[in-house]
Amino acid sequence: MTRLSRLPHVAVIGLGGTIASSTLVPDDLITYGAPGFHVDELLEYLRPELLNVAELDGEQVLASGSSALGIADLVRVSHAVNDALTTADAVVVTSGSDALEEIAYWLDLTVPADRPVIVTGSMRPFAVRDPERPAPPTRLVHGTDGPANLLAAIRVAASGVTAGQGVVVVFGDLLHAARDVVKRHSTLPDPFESPVSGPIGYVFGGSVVLHRHVLRPPGDPAKPLVDLADRVAGDEPPRVEILISYPGGGGEAVEAYVNAGVRGLVIAGMGFGSISNGLAAAAGRAAQEGLPVVCVSRTGAGSTVAKRGWEILAGDLAPTKARLLLILALLVEQSSARLADTMVRLAMPAAPGKRDAT
Ligand code: ASP
Repeated sequence: MTRLSRLPHVAVIGLGGTIASSTLVPDDLITYGAPGFHVDELLEYLRPELLNVAELDGEQVLASGSSALGIADLVRVSHAVNDALTTADAVVVTSGSDALEEIAYWLDLTVPADRPVIVTGSMRPFAVRDPERPAPPTRLVHGTDGPANLLAAIRVAASGVTAGQGVVVVFGDLLHAARDVVKRHSTLPDPFESPVSGPIGYVFGGSVVLHRHVLRPPGDPAKPLVDLADRVAGDEPPRVEILISYPGGGGEAVEAYVNAGVRGLVIAGMGFGSISNGLAAAAGRAAQEGLPVVCVSRTGAGSTVAKRGWEILAGDLAPTKARLLLILALLVEQSSARLADTMVRLAMPAAPGKRDAT
């Protein structure tokens, strides 16, 4: 018999982080952690609310804080999302909030944009759990935002509203584009913002309101911008480090990184790309010897210009995101001559017929 209608199939991938963490007492917002909750336990808790929203599949891909993830882990997460998208209508990833913006942006570049991929997390742990007697979560942490954020993320995913927008972060009922969102407070409940561009929409009860569309780099939305199909998670990824520039800053770290085998550097320059004399001299020497050196702004918003001729630009990307983009560009771009073009092409959203990374 033909099935005339069905609920959207949403795959939920758990990576760990606060959203899956437990405490011994419901008001401990600092020393929480293990034993963590499996993503299926989080879904089970929300099952009554989700019964008519989506068919859900949980998969625990990682179980660690986001700051502990390496590039090989991110490759693994990309594969997990791409695999899930072969059968699911949408994917939700639950992650730690500290590096959530990086995980979201990495996925934005490495998974297709034609179906919703949502990343969420929480600032407060989920529930009380006694390591000696683990039982289903019955006592929630006071004011926990985990269940509400996960519920909102699944509703957005199931709605299909963000199909074509790339990876979207849902946190505190706001929707943010992955390339723009940053965590702007270390502890407050709603720490995510998209400087200058603002959020792209919000969740209101069971509805999703989208204010605007996300401009993306040119490419077929059904394919990832960067295809990691042949990358094995265990392969050694190129190492790229970030240096921040400030008045009087020296350049010794550049040499140390080059000696350590670093394949590229990102400089978080002052303003629209100013770099202290000491760091500029050392970075310029390394660039002339073939090391890709990207210069973005440490201000948190706005682009840079090539003031010295050797810098690669990455538009208005945050330094942490420019680093991920450089790692991906190094993974897929064999020609160092084309690296700068690849960075510019992928860094900036493109209005039809127009692109400018400076
Ligand atoms: N340490 C946590 C992390 O995994 C913090 C969080 O999830 O909010 O990023």
